[in-house]
Amino acid sequence: MPLDSSRNTPVVLFVASEPMLRHAMREALAAQDCDVVEESAAYEGKLACRSARPALVLLECGLDPDHELAVEFGGAEGRPGIPWIAVGSSEQCQEAVRRGALDWIVAPVVAPLLLHRVESVLRGLRIESDAEAARLRLTAEEAASETAISGPAPREEFLQRADAVLRDPRQRRSDAAMLFLSIEVEDGAEDAIATCLPTLSKRLRDVVRAREGSGAVQNVQAPLTLCEGHEFAVLLERQERPQDAYKVARRLQQQLERPVESAGRKFVVHVNVGIAVHRHDGASANELLDSAYGAMERARQEQLHGIRFATATMNASTFERLALESNLRYALEREELTLFYQPRIDLSTGGVVGFEALLRWKHPELGMVSPGQFIPIAEESGLIVPIGEWVLREACRQNQAWRAAGLRKVRMAVNLSSVQFRQPDLELRVARVLEETGLDPDGLELELTESMLLQDADATIETLRTMKHMGIHLSIDDFGTGYSSLSYIKRFPVDALKIDQSFVREVLSSPEDSAITTSIVLMGKSLNLTVVAEGVETKSQLEFLRVLECDEAQGYLFSRPVTADQAEECLRTGYAALLGVEAAVS
Ligand code: C2E
Ligand code: MG
Ligand code: MG
Repeated sequence: MPLDSSRNTPVVLFVASEPMLRHAMREALAAQDCDVVEESAAYEGKLACRSARPALVLLECGLDPDHELAVEFGGAEGRPGIPWIAVGSSEQCQEAVRRGALDWIVAPVVAPLLLHRVESVLRGLRIESDAEAARLRLTAEEAASETAISGPAPREEFLQRADAVLRDPRQRRSDAAMLFLSIEVEDGAEDAIATCLPTLSKRLRDVVRAREGSGAVQNVQAPLTLCEGHEFAVLLERQERPQDAYKVARRLQQQLERPVESAGRKFVVHVNVGIAVHRHDGASANELLDSAYGAMERARQEQLHGIRFATATMNASTFERLALESNLRYALEREELTLFYQPRIDLSTGGVVGFEALLRWKHPELGMVSPGQFIPIAEESGLIVPIGEWVLREACRQNQAWRAAGLRKVRMAVNLSSVQFRQPDLELRVARVLEETGLDPDGLELELTESMLLQDADATIETLRTMKHMGIHLSIDDFGTGYSSLSYIKRFPVDALKIDQSFVREVLSSPEDSAITTSIVLMGKSLNLTVVAEGVETKSQLEFLRVLECDEAQGYLFSRPVTADQAEECLRTGYAALLGVEAAVS
């Protein structure tokens, strides 16, 4: 575990002698919740590594010409490795990455960029250590809930811990939710509940634990559970939306309501669930528990799915969402899905080098529904698999049609969802689509996200290699928003980085975003990757990118995503005029 669990604040060690660099490091670290240890020479740095056990080290590469420190960071003689960020010339940084640096910053250092890197590395490390802590907490809780069934209820302890979670500042951006579950067993016998409880509490723990395991790295679940008699309470941390809590509730209900068989008897179980959302339905754990209990009571009276939110409007929006889900099931059959295409422009020639296929849902009543609204639903329900395959086939078919019509050869980029990416036979499915549509693999690019690369890296590399061998291009979408570091990217056989539009948007007004954009372009170049800027809306943003020699761009300045016919127009005309360059003869 990278963060020292026995300490609350991580230690960050910086080893640097150059005054400006020391100053920048101090500034970057002042904003962090960490203890800082400073050293100005390699030998002292090495001693500090051993005594202070830092969670992260920032190293001025020039101080470590013989790579002694790099070896030290690698961990040896039973000591765990220490993540480190290298600062130096681009050659020094590349060497450092080869020697295991987690990230690098090319000098001269831009303070906001350093801050951004330190922040994201620390955040990544914290998340890993939170996940570990959550596992430990759950194990401790299991022991508690075991005694709860026979002994006194650990309600006080549960409330205290839940309050600690609710007060955690990292909880601020998302909602925690309290679930209150009440179990009824259909059987006159007095011991019916007691007989079923061990099975039921095991099922509860299994669901809760499975959620923890399946959560994306960014969304670590640390569920706290309490069992009292025939009632259970679960605190769910960091629920992005009320629907997330609803889904957990539904899953718990489905699992707990499976008949229980014990000693030759079969019990039918009913479960009612109340959901209270932090801040909407209460500030303290006790208030939330009360609200959730009230909602559970209402659920029991109404017999409406057996699940109720404490706040009535949340019931409405959740059901709306579920209705959307059932409509989406038919969207494919009813041919309500369509693709729009947004051109990608080569900034040196103004020619269209590719298109990104973007999905739209023409809903009969709601009109055009944007992917932001329905892709998450499609992902949760698994519908993304058939939908994604349709997108892939349609996009390849369209590109092949353009090629067959003798138009300039372009590459079609298709967004892959992480759910699709985890399919074991993804390569085969892609190969089949290419074969069916007759598109050369070189005409296809798959867009992945950083978070996809973070999950099960070894298997991911394998999948990507196979696709690369097939001749397919690969790019990382929304780059800069995730936790991936340079040493990470280097491991994956990708061709292009797409700078997230949030950085491009503020590139002229925010020094931080301009530093990040600059560094992504430089870093991409040094790794021989094509760098694409997303969301270019103004001429001044374009100018900034051209000065940086960013390779390609996409955005409303050139064209919004358009229909296939309009896309064909873009392809024929190109954007040389907009860029003020001579149109290339194609
Ligand atoms: P993305 O892949 O990052 O796509 C870029 C999004 O930015 C698109 O939104 C595009 O319309 C929008 N955009 C392009 N240029 C500009 C600009 O200059 N300014 C602004 N403000 N926005 C711009 P869209 O089409 O709503 O798609 C949103 C996201 O939905 C996509 O982000 C992608 O992650 C996902 N998505 C779209 N189609 C598919 C699909 O077929 N499969 C999967 N799995 N995801 C998809
Ligand atoms: Mg994309
Ligand atoms: Mg994007």
